[in-house]
Amino acid sequence: MADTRLAGIGMTSARTRDRLVQRLRDQGISNLAVLDRIRNVPRHIFVDEALGSRAYEDTALPIGFGQTISQPYIVARMTEALLQAGPAENVLEVGTGCGYQTAVLSPLVARINTIERIEPLLTRARERLRELGLRNVRFRHGDGSLGWKAHAPFDGILVAAAPLTVPEALIQQLRVGGRLLVPVGPEGEQQLVRYTRKEQRVEREVLGPVAFVPLLGGIA
Ligand code: SAH
Repeated sequence: MADTRLAGIGMTSARTRDRLVQRLRDQGISNLAVLDRIRNVPRHIFVDEALGSRAYEDTALPIGFGQTISQPYIVARMTEALLQAGPAENVLEVGTGCGYQTAVLSPLVARINTIERIEPLLTRARERLRELGLRNVRFRHGDGSLGWKAHAPFDGILVAAAPLTVPEALIQQLRVGGRLLVPVGPEGEQQLVRYTRKEQRVEREVLGPVAFVPLLGGIA
């Protein structure tokens, strides 16, 4: 029973997932390890059962508490952009949400530290990742805009919610050579930005327009 749930049937089957992967390839995602994760992570277990049949559409879907599961293209794009400059050992994720991005990234890095401000979302994400046997994830209920100093410096930081300006703490917690992927700006005008920490400076690249929920302060 559990096996059938994870493998999926009908609209959650392997064929449906292959179509999604083909679509992401057509849109320019080329990292094979990332595409493989999109094929293998059962996105339907991260959404309500009623939405399961839409889980392999390339769209964001509601996960409760006014939040959404990210669009597969964006998850793939951010993961690819994070890994482009080389392997990442120690990664920080801000905005765990339902844990889908965490699940995609988990086997591609040594360790993920993930922070979510809405506690029930974090609890559910933790259960799902355990069910998938992904064990290199450390969870924290807190405000991710402050980073996670105890486990810094990071080779990579992924932010799944948009601040108006990039939080200084996140830049500070990057290792030299480390990359920060963050959507920045007000609703309707966000850009995905990659910051790379160099010895003496921080490089900034704008990767293109995106639409994320806002990064909020405090916890809930
Ligand atoms: N990564 C998720 C998408 C999550 S949506 C996925 O794979 O689908 C963004 C999440 O960021 C929401 O759950 C929201 O509660 C959370 N969030 C917003 N501001 C935050 C903050 N300051 N610290 C931690 N999490 C935050």
